[in-house]
Amino acid sequence: MKWLNRLAGLLFGLISVGVVKNFLSKYEVLVFDKKDLAEDDQEQSGLDLRGTPTHVCTCGSRIWYVKSVFDDYEIATYFLDMVCAE
Ligand SMILES: [Zn+2]
Repeated sequence: MKWLNRLAGLLFGLISVGVVKNFLSKYEVLVFDKKDLAEDDQEQSGLDLRGTPTHVCTCGSRIWYVKSVFDDYEIATYFLDMVCAE
């Protein structure tokens, strides 16, 4: 029985390695923390103008934090939940 458990463990390990190798060959895994995405800064500063589409903030800034969707290396969609970057 001992050899059967070892064989089952070996097969399970080999299958697990194969599944992980297959997953990593199909997909790219990106890991971000909140500092990389500057989510902490975005929530702490800036005027929140959600629901008010505008090109210029009341402070005069034209730079925004936005959520956007890229398609073919261009912005295809962006959300109106903009926050001033100043
Ligand atoms: Zn502003």
